[in-house]
Amino acid sequence: MSDCLFCAIVSGDIPGDVVARTDRVLAFRDIDPKAPTHILIIPIEHFEDLPAVAQADSSLAGEIFAVAAELAESEGIAETGHRLVANTGREGGQTVSHAHVHLLGGRSLSWPPG
Ligand code: AMP
Ligand code: ZN
Repeated sequence: MSDCLFCAIVSGDIPGDVVARTDRVLAFRDIDPKAPTHILIIPIEHFEDLPAVAQADSSLAGEIFAVAAELAESEGIAETGHRLVANTGREGGQTVSHAHVHLLGGRSLSWPPG
């Protein structure tokens, strides 16, 4: 989709610190990390938000979470614990309208978030 930041990272028009890629999923480090590990996992195809992915293709939603689980292991935060976040819509705090899951870990995370 034109004018989408994460589509531009998928296409390589904007550089991303890519840590994992499958046929359908891309993962890259957040540019403004909120924790020692802060990775964004996205569908390569443009969807507005994670609920749209789940409704259109539940296997793709599952693949996003499977990649997150693999990255939690490779980042060493599978055992210590971590957080998966899918901010959705305006009141959910979503700022980039391309579906993504945040993988956060490497420090103790407070709840609820701010
Ligand atoms: P959200 O607020 O849930 O929509 O998350 C969007 C995330 O994208 C934020 O955590 C930003 O720091 C992150 N972000 C914005 N621009 C970039 C970029 N060029 N590369 C990597 N992450 C980015
Ligand atoms: Zn997009």
